[in-house]
Amino acid sequence: MIVAKFGGTSVQDAEKIDRALDIVEAQLERAPFLVASAMGKTTDRLVETSREAEKGNYRESLKILEEIKTLHYETARSFLRGKNLETLLAKLDQFFQELGSIIRGLSLLKECTARSSDTLLSFGELLSTTVIAARAEERGIPVTWLDSRLLIKTDSQYTNAAPDRTATDEIVRSAIEPEPGRLFIAQGFIASDHRGITTTLGRGGSDFSAAVYGAALGAEEVQIWTDVPGIMTSDPRIVPEAGTVSEISYQEAAELAYFGAKVLHPSTIQPAVERSIPVYVRNTADPEGKHTKIVKKASGLEVRALAMKKNTVLINVYSTRMLNAYGFLSRMFTVFERYKTPVDLIATSEVSVSMTIDSENSLQDIRKELEEFSQVEIEKDRSIISLVGTGLRERNNLLLSVFKSLNGYPVEMISFGSSDVNLSLVVPDSEAEEALRALHREFFSTL
Ligand code: ASP
Ligand code: MG
Repeated sequence: MIVAKFGGTSVQDAEKIDRALDIVEAQLERAPFLVASAMGKTTDRLVETSREAEKGNYRESLKILEEIKTLHYETARSFLRGKNLETLLAKLDQFFQELGSIIRGLSLLKECTARSSDTLLSFGELLSTTVIAARAEERGIPVTWLDSRLLIKTDSQYTNAAPDRTATDEIVRSAIEPEPGRLFIAQGFIASDHRGITTTLGRGGSDFSAAVYGAALGAEEVQIWTDVPGIMTSDPRIVPEAGTVSEISYQEAAELAYFGAKVLHPSTIQPAVERSIPVYVRNTADPEGKHTKIVKKASGLEVRALAMKKNTVLINVYSTRMLNAYGFLSRMFTVFERYKTPVDLIATSEVSVSMTIDSENSLQDIRKELEEFSQVEIEKDRSIISLVGTGLRERNNLLLSVFKSLNGYPVEMISFGSSDVNLSLVVPDSEAEEALRALHREFFSTL
């Protein structure tokens, strides 16, 4: 069986829903399990209704709810006829009545707890999957609609609940038997705790749901259908010639996400990867086109992609007493710890330490405390450019290629060797985009 997840933009209207159904229908013999997000921006809109309700603005709240309603009813009317339409409208009526009552309750109480918010937000996915399942039926696809609240069990950390994988695996395996020729449809993002109260897995949590289902059911693969052609070698808005990375390891994808690439967050697909289930990132607009396969271990020694993170701060700390002195680093890091500021990159010499942080929040306090025992230099508006790949340390001409392509650019720091999947450089923001393009030309000119 396969799991196919469609995000909000991939189910935002009738046309997109049909395209999603085309994609799973073409794979009907592989026993597809469709996981869907809420339609378009529905989750954001539901958050807005809760904000208004919390302020006691019942009318405002209802107005936003009306818009959500219009989207779903119009979609239903545009592609369903007769009995199918009637049945769907009755189901939607039921959902919207419940939603109306919830909003009324919240407005009266002028309160929306995390727990209430999860119940409210869960309607986005309940609505979208109900519409999608009705359309599948209208098209003659044998379909089973499932309720993720009964299948995925989590802790009670509302708005950001963690699945209980053991309990979930057991329930999912005993409740669902995928079969070729039948489409299963379930909601992403939503679940319930051990008392049966609705929870959500955090914003954007549908990828996670897909991976949890894929892992529980031992899927052949998990497909994440989105509106970009997979993971790119670099940000195409900055590097127009960027192409799709065809295969990437889980660890490389994690590294890319950390250093600024806007790919799906790898931690969300971990359940699939840990069971060696490949995850494909594919483009809904071009189903047969280029895509990315995320695997546990990628093949070959290669630079896979380049990421860039702007607006970081470079801090250079000099100690006159560092020669033969111990305890300096620990003292220095204690300062960052005190201000809960993570250090991203670090490079040291005998008398100085360079590091980057990505927030200016406590910068002045940090500086003051560091200056009690060292000399501090702060450079703002810096960018980290990261080369991500596998076996970077074994590529003996890697540094040569990097420095050759960056000849003339002011590289202020370099961090390499601590990890075999990452080489990072710091350059001023103003030079970063050019530097990124130069590196891309060096490493991906043959793509
Ligand atoms: N609908 C939810 C959100 O917008 C979950 C998801 O789309 O993955 O955050
Ligand atoms: Mg969404």
